[in-house]
Amino acid sequence: MAPSPLIPRRRTTLLVVHCSATGPDSDIGCQDITAWHLKRGWAAVGYHYVIRRDGTLEAGRPEGSIGAHVAGHNATSIGVCLVGGLDAAGQPACNYTEAQMASLRRVLGELHGRYPAARIVGHRDLSPDGNGDGVISPNEYLKACPCFDVGEWLAANPLG
Ligand SMILES: [Zn+2]
Repeated sequence: MAPSPLIPRRRTTLLVVHCSATGPDSDIGCQDITAWHLKRGWAAVGYHYVIRRDGTLEAGRPEGSIGAHVAGHNATSIGVCLVGGLDAAGQPACNYTEAQMASLRRVLGELHGRYPAARIVGHRDLSPDGNGDGVISPNEYLKACPCFDVGEWLAANPLG
């Protein structure tokens, strides 16, 4: 079956931070993640950007195309993936390098400049509010991704 073609995105309301769910010593990048995603039958890597362990920013799916990174929100969002997020035992861990976090801050600043109305969130923040109390609590997370509190981090490290 031929993969479905890339489709232009009409609106951008969310900038979503992800992790690759790989260990701290796994020095992978966009090419590796692309290979995983092509195996799933996708037309391209699901994320628009990938940040390697050394902080290098790699372009993934074209920024103007609909991505494949978060159920229910792909049509209106851009996905940025930090490589890492698991500890040596395979458990969720906020183990990104300083260079990665600096790179994340830089790319989110640039994206926010281009899409000023977009809200910046972590993948887990888009889990459904299971008990309907208006708060997505940790026990409601569908995934731990990206394994840290993006809102808290942004409050402590505001974009320029
Ligand atoms: Zn994710």
